[in-house]
Amino acid sequence: MTTACRNCGSSKLELVLSLGSMPLANALLTDAELGRPEPRFPLELAYCDGCCLVQITESVEPELLFREYAYFSSVSDAFVEHARQIAQRVTNERALGPSSLVVELASNDGYLLQHYARAGIPVLGIDPARNVAQVAIERGVPTIAEFFGPELADRLVAGGRRADVIHANNVLAHVPDLHGVVAGIARLLTPNGVAVIETPYVREMVERLEFDTIYHEHLFYYSLGSLREVLARDGLSIAHVERIPVHGGSLRVFAVPQGSVSPSETVRTTLAEEDALGVCTSAYYREFGARVSELRGELTAMLGDLRRSGHRIAAYGAAAKGAILLNAFGIGPETLDFVADRSPYKQGRYMPGVHLPIASPERLLDQMPDETLLLAWNFADEILAQQAEYRRRGGRFILPIPKPTVV
Ligand code: ZN
Repeated sequence: MTTACRNCGSSKLELVLSLGSMPLANALLTDAELGRPEPRFPLELAYCDGCCLVQITESVEPELLFREYAYFSSVSDAFVEHARQIAQRVTNERALGPSSLVVELASNDGYLLQHYARAGIPVLGIDPARNVAQVAIERGVPTIAEFFGPELADRLVAGGRRADVIHANNVLAHVPDLHGVVAGIARLLTPNGVAVIETPYVREMVERLEFDTIYHEHLFYYSLGSLREVLARDGLSIAHVERIPVHGGSLRVFAVPQGSVSPSETVRTTLAEEDALGVCTSAYYREFGARVSELRGELTAMLGDLRRSGHRIAAYGAAAKGAILLNAFGIGPETLDFVADRSPYKQGRYMPGVHLPIASPERLLDQMPDETLLLAWNFADEILAQQAEYRRRGGRFILPIPKPTVV
């Protein structure tokens, strides 16, 4: 349990939302594991009055969280396309070529770096999850299966390797040793290099009630203001920022060694918007916590009514956010029959905590549940398109947030 802010060390952490004692959201269970007790940890969101950084209070041992991470980025078409576009753009803007180096932290199965590699640009992936790192290597993306920090950065620099570009997508939200990673980025970059950092935007989480993006792997929830503070401590400044639609709404910042360029107009306007909304006040997050409680009442009442009127209900999306929504709201086998997911790695396993079986999406057509709760709302468009036949035959989807809606 953390009682001091992981960024600034302040003890003024204010609890703004408690989701209770929760299993690890990515810890899918096998048949053999169903009978064993699951580890549970408190899941509580806190706001730091010292530096404005929103964080959870519990740090679960990273070895327990990441070594067998089941998320393969390439399973999502939208994700791979998003990666292809940013790789092409950065290649053009930075005039990258055979003597450049692009590094990605949390490079997963090589979904992003493969696009640079195909263009003949040297790449290096870094990802502690051995199973996904192995897939990347087989795909031609050299990958180091270690945790990234100043030591690894120094070893690479000593070996003559500095990065012209470092991608860190969905990384800064997850690392307990936040300043180790940011310092590592600062040391590994060339003086003219750029770190392209994508991280979920706390303002989107609050505005769209995306409470199910809160889980133990996800330690930090950034505003542009708090991210600026974090980067500045290790000598990086934000040259440019964009808002992008991935992971329910994220910030993409282009961070450079301090003093090398002045911030763009969007950096200034985004910071001004945050000020006007009170993003750096605890009241902003307390009000969010109250709205999550209301949502729980609405969604469980809706599902209960459907079940009482004889409907059969399934869910779609065996990812972390699905596990959080089901466990936080107490929705299990009494309400849902199964969870559909496209990843073969997940099929045949069970959701943590609530123990719902995970099946291939074909089961939706085989069994035609009346409603399907769309847990993977971040891929809603893609999934609704893939499930056109289920919908044509009368199947309906329920979008749980920000307000339960049948489509
Ligand atoms: Zn702080």
